[in-house]
Amino acid sequence: MAKMLIGGELVDSVSKDTYEVRNPATGAVVDTAPKGNEKDVLQAIQAAETAFKEWSDVTAEDRGNALMSACELIKKNSGEIAQLLTQEQGKTLFEAGLEIHHLVHGLEFYAGLASKVRGAHVPLPQKGAYGMVVRQPIGICGGIVPWNFPLTLMGTKLGPALAAGNTIIIKPASTTPLATVRAIELIQQATFGEGKAQKQMTKGAVNVVTGPGSTVGEEILRNPRIRRIAFTGSTPVGRHVMEVAGREIKRVTLELGGSDPMIVMEDANLDMAVKMADIGRFFNCGQMCLGVKRLFLHESVAEKFVGGLVEILKKKTVGNGMSKETRMGPIHIESQRQEVEEQVEDAKSRGAKTIFGGERAKGGDLDKGYFYLPTLLSDVPDDARVTKEEVFGPALPVYTFKTIDEAIEKSNASEFGLGSSIWTRNLVYANKAIDKLQAGNVWVNSLHYGYDELPFGGVKSSGVGREHGPEALDYYLEPKGVVIVNV
Ligand code: NDP
Repeated sequence: MAKMLIGGELVDSVSKDTYEVRNPATGAVVDTAPKGNEKDVLQAIQAAETAFKEWSDVTAEDRGNALMSACELIKKNSGEIAQLLTQEQGKTLFEAGLEIHHLVHGLEFYAGLASKVRGAHVPLPQKGAYGMVVRQPIGICGGIVPWNFPLTLMGTKLGPALAAGNTIIIKPASTTPLATVRAIELIQQATFGEGKAQKQMTKGAVNVVTGPGSTVGEEILRNPRIRRIAFTGSTPVGRHVMEVAGREIKRVTLELGGSDPMIVMEDANLDMAVKMADIGRFFNCGQMCLGVKRLFLHESVAEKFVGGLVEILKKKTVGNGMSKETRMGPIHIESQRQEVEEQVEDAKSRGAKTIFGGERAKGGDLDKGYFYLPTLLSDVPDDARVTKEEVFGPALPVYTFKTIDEAIEKSNASEFGLGSSIWTRNLVYANKAIDKLQAGNVWVNSLHYGYDELPFGGVKSSGVGREHGPEALDYYLEPKGVVIVNV
């Protein structure tokens, strides 16, 4: 049975309640996890508060060294963690490996930044006086993580939080606690310093409490001792997070849903664009916040583009992520599969045509899991759910356009504004897209991918604040104005 990690110890929930974690590919129980509640969060808060006194006092360089050591431990155990991730989440082993690689890369990025934090010296109008801006850790942070990328989205919170000298409590999604607990157990074992001076990371600097959003999540949001909330998840829950955490005037960042447009102009490198549309939509079975969710094709290249994409989809083996042959795993939970099905059916009922897929993947072992075929839809009207809503699964609506202005206008006609891309070799088109697309990220001739080096986040209903990049550190540091007068 899996445990939680509080104050450096692997523990059961106070209530001793547990719940089953199931494999979305087979329905089989992978393991059980502690069903935590408010009491477990209170214990984690106590541990994180005690740890903060020590961890915030560790030199920035040693905090970075500890994060680097954590990365080494994760790399050494990546095979075991990948298996856990595939079994609880459904993604292929290849995708799980990439996720662990991304987690490590992100943690290494913040390990490097820990000792590079800068303040400021400010001349003041008063004679003999100057100001300083010092940047201090905030205290205990709460990181609430969804099920689509349990590890990387945990790392985008834990990395900058620890580098800045904060302590953190992570709440994974109920359905994906296992790889997270194992990775955090390893992170807690990280060391810094050499020889006799070597120390282990302060116990309680990282904690993980498993259990439902309605109890564990709520306590993290409302408890005033947690000063900073980093949330990744759906837009409706994000609204709730802001309301509840706002009552305690917490610092909140929200990474929410998206409906990224991909615009393909008449002069694009079509071969490359087709490959990236496939990865951008169908990687992780389409369960990505950023990803190609609406495909806009210039009418002169639409037929060729769709033909190329269909050829790729024909070869995409859907199945259990543990099999080497599998190229796309199941949707993570049954309710999410139903949601995608209903969105696709809604589009069909409004006149959309199915170019590929459009139904469950069936037969043999596939009937045990939540499988769905990669799906392409054309002739999709503006009022279809797949146009207006986020599609969090392997279905892609395809639209055509005549001019760049039309493509940008349609792209912006969404409540979301997370990612976007344009495929062109024309600088005027590219600059127009960079300037006019309402999104936190614009990729030009590039995959929808969240680089650790660049700020990542959304506008409109896609969220507030940024993760990734040096910018994310700002959300974990409190600037303090200081005045010094020579008397
Ligand atoms: P949810 O919003 O349902 O859940 C996200 C997390 O919030 C889970 O840990 C969940 O716990 C928790 N939670 C649920 N209710 C509460 C509550 N009342 N208080 C506190 N925490 C709560 O999202 P999904 O897990 O379904 O993830 C999919 C969504 O995440 C998609 O919309 C996707 O676009 C978005 N996402 C955004 C990203 C971004 O960076 N912008 C990246 C990845 C995903 P529990 O599991 O126990 O319910």
